[in-house]
Amino acid sequence: MILPSHLTVRDGHLRIGEHDTVDLAERFGTPLYVTDEMRIRGNFQRLSGALTAHYPKIRVLYAAKANGNLAIFKTLASQGAGADVFSAGEVALALAAGMLPSSLLFNGSSKTPADLALAVEKGIRVSVDSPDELRQLDRAAGAAGTTVEIAFRVNPAIEVPTHPKIATGLATSKFGIPAGQILDAYREALALEHVKPVGIHCHIGSQILDVEPFAHEVEVLIDVARDLLDIGVNLSFIDIGGGLGIPYHRETDRAPTPEEYAEAVMPVFLRGIKELGIEPELWVEPGRWLIGDSTVLLTRVNSVKTAHKTFANVDAGFNLLVRPTMYDSYHEVVAANRADAPAVREYSVTGPICETGDILAKDRMLPELEAGDLIAVLDAGAYGFAMSSQYNSRPRCAEVLLAGEKAALMRRAETIDDLTAPMVTVPWQE
Ligand SMILES: *Cc1c(COP(=O)(O)O)cnc(C)c1O
Repeated sequence: MILPSHLTVRDGHLRIGEHDTVDLAERFGTPLYVTDEMRIRGNFQRLSGALTAHYPKIRVLYAAKANGNLAIFKTLASQGAGADVFSAGEVALALAAGMLPSSLLFNGSSKTPADLALAVEKGIRVSVDSPDELRQLDRAAGAAGTTVEIAFRVNPAIEVPTHPKIATGLATSKFGIPAGQILDAYREALALEHVKPVGIHCHIGSQILDVEPFAHEVEVLIDVARDLLDIGVNLSFIDIGGGLGIPYHRETDRAPTPEEYAEAVMPVFLRGIKELGIEPELWVEPGRWLIGDSTVLLTRVNSVKTAHKTFANVDAGFNLLVRPTMYDSYHEVVAANRADAPAVREYSVTGPICETGDILAKDRMLPELEAGDLIAVLDAGAYGFAMSSQYNSRPRCAEVLLAGEKAALMRRAETIDDLTAPMVTVPWQE
């Protein structure tokens, strides 16, 4: 298997950064999410560098939903990232990490009145998803005696080669305003007193392994920008969203590099803005690409069973990593304490949840396994812990952050008391 450079094997053990995963599992317990901060920094610099090489006015907004740990926000904030935020919680985390309100974009197709009021109060730009929302935002800003800068989210009606649940730019998606209605939306915004249209926003989907759809997206946005210029909108940014995929099938996937991504989108963007005679900032919103490969989920084998096939029953399931169950996603698994033993038997790696679909990895060739062995699930940094639950009343596990030789908890494991703490005894059961 082709491992990313921060994962290595020494003396039969899988290592992440400068740490032996077997030691980490012993020290912090399992299941355990382990994230290499250096990898995130490196990923950020590579992606932002690839874009900045073409055009200086680039802003990278971390897609906050991919991983909501404050330590991750701080790592990215220290690199100069802003954030694409979808909720009051994500706003709070981004601000707590030191990001400025001016480096955030409040996204989402179903914002509450409280969300809009928060954006107004903090001075956060809003990606508006409907004319209805526009009017509500205008009223909220008016009530506060201020003006909010906005973009509209454009639905570009682009087919992208990814899982249907994460293709967001389809004509049929719930996100954005169809191209045919977008000019009217901007006209209405221009006429309102407390919103100021300054940008265009788009996001076509996630885990896209081909750069062509991104180039097509930028063409669509340049066409919109041309029309906006005609009606008098001064664009200060064009936000092309996130979605760059990573090679989860480490044997076979060919994922575009950031340089290839930049080669595909930047010439289209630069030609377009030159023709229009404008110099807006280009914003991108990567989530998965920044943090996906930075993290492994360590899980211990509880038992091995051979029935119609052989199961390795481990202590993490879709309560902690739902992607395989929800999106049929593939994650590589490594026998972390036997990492250089030959793969001799086919296993399905299955979790402790009371559901048939609780399979982390199906039919994988692995070394001979026994109870107590340690499995590492790779590329678990994005939409991993962030989508975890307490299903089956299982407390969520801890998360550890590594930086060089340092290793520390960035989230303690939950306890049984944490499960019951928010529960309230109803009066008639007292
Ligand atoms: C989820 C999302 C992203 C990030 O997607 P990735 O595939 O993780 O890069 C960016 N922008 C918006 C609006 C999103 O919803």
